Amino acid sequence: MEGRGGGSGADPGPATATASASGGEGEGCEGLWELPVERCERRPVCGRCSRPQKVCLCPFLPVHPLKVSTCLYIIQHPAEESRVLRTVPLLAACLPPDKCKILVGRRFNEDRYPELATVCRNPNTLILYPGAEATNLEEVAVMSSSPSVMIIIDGTWSQAKDIFYKNSLFRLPKQVQLKPSISSQYVIRTQPTNTCLSTLECAAVALSIMEKNKSIQEIILHPLQALCSFQLQHGAQIHHSKEHLLKNGLYDKPMPKNKRKLRRMELLVNNVKI
Ligand SMILES: [Zn+2]
Repeated sequence: MEGRGGGSGADPGPATATASASGGEGEGCEGLWELPVERCERRPVCGRCSRPQKVCLCPFLPVHPLKVSTCLYIIQHPAEESRVLRTVPLLAACLPPDKCKILVGRRFNEDRYPELATVCRNPNTLILYPGAEATNLEEVAVMSSSPSVMIIIDGTWSQAKDIFYKNSLFRLPKQVQLKPSISSQYVIRTQPTNTCLSTLECAAVALSIMEKNKSIQEIILHPLQALCSFQLQHGAQIHHSKEHLLKNGLYDKPMPKNKRKLRRMELLVNNVKI
């Protein structure tokens, strides 16, 4: 979207902003007062966990950042950054800053991200991506003893797929996946399948495997469990995965007319990995 420049003022957003910036407090600003107030209102946010202060999750975070030798690179789709319930800030708050680097964007090339390019070329770097060539992480972790880097893409499945295929850098590291037996605890967001994990859950499981320390997983998942139980106490409903809803006849949305989408849902019901 952002590359589509040079329009003749079809987009009212930037045009209004320019007028008010250059025209000062002139008559051009009148319309701005009519904008809904709550859009500008920001609740005070906790500096550590990035949650609104009233629902700060810091008591559920480790007192000191976890000591790990693996470095995580979280490649975050821009849409994920603006979500209300984000799990990546909680992950970052559990780890030392130099072990959890977050890069936001869709396109990552060597010129703009030379450090990332070096990381991708390092033979000790792994990318968590369940593609056809992926090996189970356990098998890789058993063999390696040196500290390594793990790249995780944060976004919906289709956003992650887009980022993976449109950036050749991400096809350089060895592809790994987590065993599909781990079920998601992140019940607030509807996941496409029960085993679709949030970025925080993926990172927790992956780190505990890489560091050969099961307690890492529990420590990182602790704030997520607190977040989910808080949300549920305050009226959020448990979102079962689409797979669960379909299999139990609880799916209450109209079935898609599009044949491809229907086929995808059939595959979900029949437990076929899509
Ligand atoms: Zn906090």
